[in-house]
Amino acid sequence: MTGSAEQLSNYETGPAVSEEVAVVAKVEVQVEQCKGCQLCCWVCPTKTLSLSQTINPKGYNPVMVAEPEACLGCALCVQVCPDLALTVSK
Ligand code: SF4
Ligand code: SF4
Repeated sequence: MTGSAEQLSNYETGPAVSEEVAVVAKVEVQVEQCKGCQLCCWVCPTKTLSLSQTINPKGYNPVMVAEPEACLGCALCVQVCPDLALTVSK
């Protein structure tokens, strides 16, 4: 059999898999514009967004990015937000 000890080791155990989770997209909330209607929370397929316990200058509980690594960048939340309080970048 040919191949280095490392190659043989990889054959037996498989290639190394990174522990890091790739960030697909980044969603951001303009907190001062949010009125806490939660439309974005309901439409998000990955439950990335949820209502925070803080109060914004308008007197509402704004949403927060609770699971940032879960965002797919689908922008459904951006489309439904009536107050243009969300942005998504990839
Ligand atoms: S872009 Fe899609 S996955 Fe990301 S927070 Fe908005 S609805 Fe959820
Ligand atoms: S849809 Fe817009 S205004 Fe409503 S909770 Fe989400 S970010 Fe706030």
